[in-house]
Amino acid sequence: MKYKLRLVLAAACFSLLFVPDAQGRQGGASNGTARREVAVTVDDLPAWGDLEKMTYITRKLLKSITDNKVPAVGFVNESQLFARGETDARVALLQMWLDAGLELGNHTFSHILIDRHPLDAYKEDVIRGETVTRMLLREKGMKLRYFRHTQLRTGPTAEYKEGLGKFLAGRGYTVAPVTIDNQEWVFAEVYSGAKERGDKETMKRVAEAYLKYMDEIFAFFEKLSREFLGYEVKQTLLLHANELNADYFEQLVGMMRTRGYTFVSLEDAMKDKAYGLPDAQAKMGLSWIHRWMLAKGLEMKPEPAEPEWIASLHKSYFRR
Ligand SMILES: [Zn+2]
Repeated sequence: MKYKLRLVLAAACFSLLFVPDAQGRQGGASNGTARREVAVTVDDLPAWGDLEKMTYITRKLLKSITDNKVPAVGFVNESQLFARGETDARVALLQMWLDAGLELGNHTFSHILIDRHPLDAYKEDVIRGETVTRMLLREKGMKLRYFRHTQLRTGPTAEYKEGLGKFLAGRGYTVAPVTIDNQEWVFAEVYSGAKERGDKETMKRVAEAYLKYMDEIFAFFEKLSREFLGYEVKQTLLLHANELNADYFEQLVGMMRTRGYTFVSLEDAMKDKAYGLPDAQAKMGLSWIHRWMLAKGLEMKPEPAEPEWIASLHKSYFRR
């Protein structure tokens, strides 16, 4: 899960600072000529919830992923594997990802919150999160090579970020970046809340709003990339293993295909030279495009927000 403060940042001067769109590509479904690439990553494996829900999500999501030949990488929180009498069944869900020809990475053991723990505790949680995943990968002749920060937070201070970066590199990790950052988790939590209540009409409305929102998010980051880099980066998309994506990944694939996307592996996407740019230290979870911009002293641009009714439904379902 990812919690992020709503960005309300002035975009003044933004357009003056950037090179024009060198390739002249336009976002949007109307352009059939766009050739775009995206790597799909799925966080919080095997999923949050009970075994029944985890199994539903894994089966259905994997079916859409494999039917559409999407070379996704799943990021694991191994703490989710340990429940009395269920551990084998939960590990079997991870095995399904590998048997589908997909790759797994580490997303820390406990989904540790970087702002609340010193670096040593964070490092320990990274190491603890390797055990089962590494074993399963080894059986397939694969290595554990990707790490995804929880909440996309890379460190509350420059020193922390640098220390963690060195530690991760030393353990052989490549940090998995995200360019298409989004608030999908808000839609997903509302969707699951409606599902629990048996409210099919709200589920449908939420799903429709989600697909529309994601289309807007893609358009936003495509444009941001053109303005900043002069071309559209090979994008990296962040999603989560949840009921919304289990039920609607197929439609999400349709939206991406309409925008001209083909699906590439994370390894292929990261061959784009942009991923070698310095990424700024930031307290919150941000798209790597914004991190690259901040590192150059540029300001961020406000991202599209989820509709107000989604935000208020989220509040009403999860008021604590
Ligand atoms: Zn997560």
